[in-house]
Amino acid sequence: MCGVFGAYAPGEDVARLTYFALQALQHRGQESAGIAVGDDKTVTAVKNLGLVSQVFEETDLASLPGSVAIGHTRYSTTGQSTAWENSQPHMSSIGRQLIALAHNGNLINTTALQEGLQASKMHLRSTTDSEAIAALIGEITQRTHHIREAVAETMLRVRGAFAVVLITEMALYAFRDPLGIRPLCLGELSDGRGWVVASETCALDIVGARFLRDVEPGEVIKISAEGIETFSANPWPQRREALCIFEYVYFARPDSTMEGASIYESRFRMGETLAGEYPVAADAVMSVPDSGTPAAVGYAHASGIPYLEGLAKNRYVGRTFIQPTQSLRQLGIRLKLNPMRFALEGKRLVVVDDSIVRGNTTRAIVQMLREAGAREVHMRISSPPVAWPCFFGIDTDSRDQLIGAHKTVEQIRAHIGADSLGYLSQEGMITATGLRAENFCLACFDGHYPLDVADKLAAEAAEHPGIGTAKLEM
Ligand code: AMP
Repeated sequence: MCGVFGAYAPGEDVARLTYFALQALQHRGQESAGIAVGDDKTVTAVKNLGLVSQVFEETDLASLPGSVAIGHTRYSTTGQSTAWENSQPHMSSIGRQLIALAHNGNLINTTALQEGLQASKMHLRSTTDSEAIAALIGEITQRTHHIREAVAETMLRVRGAFAVVLITEMALYAFRDPLGIRPLCLGELSDGRGWVVASETCALDIVGARFLRDVEPGEVIKISAEGIETFSANPWPQRREALCIFEYVYFARPDSTMEGASIYESRFRMGETLAGEYPVAADAVMSVPDSGTPAAVGYAHASGIPYLEGLAKNRYVGRTFIQPTQSLRQLGIRLKLNPMRFALEGKRLVVVDDSIVRGNTTRAIVQMLREAGAREVHMRISSPPVAWPCFFGIDTDSRDQLIGAHKTVEQIRAHIGADSLGYLSQEGMITATGLRAENFCLACFDGHYPLDVADKLAAEAAEHPGIGTAKLEM
């Protein structure tokens, strides 16, 4: 994952606009943040490890005047997480011109791209796929002299998921992979003050921009003094879309809208459907905040069981799952969620969360709720078991780490220590979004990848021979 934002707005404080947008995209990545600004002459960037509020001082924003800007919040997938060089935007030089690029997604042919770039003597500073995209665009532009052509050619050479924003000293480009795996939308500032692009619509709301539309899969948008220009660089125009359904399940902010579907409403309906699929007699419905809340409210609404808040959340610690090491993650769970004994004592609880990935957090939560006096804990999950690794940007680890890959639902129930466990069906999840199966990448749930990842799966199977590549019957 990652959050990306871009603004073309001469006369506006584009660095500050980007700063606010990045605050709204903080949930998409907390490892590093960066802003690059073009001021007609050159491109300057400020980036560092940490949260948006930690990376930028007032003086940084004041030192970044310009008319065009991009920003990035990082969540590491490819490349080492804690290295400064891996933070974005990445800079690349084309002769004396500089470009800055920020990327959300994950490529599946990074090694081949890096080898090709090294063979043509391009110097790579980081290990990321994102820098490889920046370098490739730089390399092709030296030959074609047009960034527009370089972007189109790059789209044919890179494979995987990418929602990218790029600036030169005076233009903003935005482009999205041909399957539209990662989201990207276009908005307009009021009174014709400029345009913005963002991973999610919540960032448009925060900067006061009006949502115009989602960027099309395979579309390239250029925004400059000549206005807005758009063209398709999609090598497979007839092919299906494959927007990541995990955006709807977990990742996106509930106040965002994707493909016309409200994330909050989708989650609420997932909860309603879950209540129909896995009803249970209980005294209260509660959520694992915040990821499970809209679905829990939906479950309570459909079942008629009262909703209560049973876990107090400390909002000042980051997402536990995102912490890179296992020991830090486990400490994080206790730091983050504390049960409210008074509300829970003696109750039969339905506890709703959006997903189970490794099972560690869920197990710790069930145990905490029991210690706090819950009589029964019925776990309800508003998505199917995550059983396949993501190669397109969600850090769901290898198959051996995914509890849904090697345990049945009953075994998972026993592992987490719940009285019962119910997962939403894949059909129920899709229907809740109002979109169709053909719109989505569902690979983490059903193993049907929208691009050929046979080599990646084979590499995993070789590393963890016990897991195999077959789908587990639940
Ligand atoms: P676990 O029981 O350890 O699998 O953790 C489940 C929790 O992880 C749920 O609350 C999910 O909302 C959350 N989760 C799922 N996917 C991710 C992810 N990619 N990054 C961070 N948290 C996640």
